[in-house]
Amino acid sequence: MKTYRVSPGKKVSLRDHDASDTSLVEGGKRDGEARLAKLGARLEELQDLLYAGHQHKLLIVLQGMDTAGKDGAIRKVFDSMDPLGIRVASFKVPTEVELDHDFLWRVHQQVPGKGEVVVFNRSHYEDVLVVRVRDLVPKKVWRERYDQINDFEKLLAETGTTIVKFFLHIDRDEQKERLQARLDDPAKRWKFRKGDLDDRKLWDDYQAAYEDVLSRTSTKWAPWYVVPANAKWYRNVVISQVLVDTLEGLGLKYPKAEEDLDSVRVD
Ligand code: AMP
Ligand code: MG
Repeated sequence: MKTYRVSPGKKVSLRDHDASDTSLVEGGKRDGEARLAKLGARLEELQDLLYAGHQHKLLIVLQGMDTAGKDGAIRKVFDSMDPLGIRVASFKVPTEVELDHDFLWRVHQQVPGKGEVVVFNRSHYEDVLVVRVRDLVPKKVWRERYDQINDFEKLLAETGTTIVKFFLHIDRDEQKERLQARLDDPAKRWKFRKGDLDDRKLWDDYQAAYEDVLSRTSTKWAPWYVVPANAKWYRNVVISQVLVDTLEGLGLKYPKAEEDLDSVRVD
């Protein structure tokens, strides 16, 4: 999965990343689904260790254009995890109170505590994406934010948080199909916003803003992965595999039990 990780300081051009890539799973979708099931079982074990150990914290950031599959990935990748230890935080248009504070204020409140897994469905990166593309604050404000974000994430990392960030990469044609599917399916229509079409018109601006995010904020302590996301099953496999590899790297162990439990009898 290292091929999808962005090296710190590397200039990213999304044109060089094939959104339809499925090359790391040789047998295609059927093999992918089988692998996903195994990864899910392993994630369940690892999360149990993380929760029991009450030491490490895991923060997962999901970003992507509309329809890129953030919600779908959350449903499929995390369904094996114990709800006791996982939480999803979704970031929407900021409220008035949130706008009265610095842009990281609302984000810091949602970061994981010890033993917890938190998934950010959108994140502080919106403050250099939609905010930049739609001119919501002056350039001199948003351009400082890349450094501020790196510093913020460094603080989290230095205080026990493992951070993994996924950009779900779809191409423009795929988005067209998915938006159309939302319109056509009565069960999906509620997700369709006319405003999504305005964002779609700004596709190139968003891609450029994402390229800057990936080039400037992939760090040793909080790496970005560019996930090929045209194929949903492959997207799920890549995310799951990265999470398994990351958690296995932490060397998690169950905490020591109380002493002399062998002689204890439950009457
Ligand atoms: P959704 O994720 O589809 O429910 O939509 C949430 C909306 O909130 C998206 O259109 C985001 O661009 C928008 N949003 C999230 N964070 C911010 C932010 N900091 N400033 C402006 N809009 C935001
Ligand atoms: Mg939306």
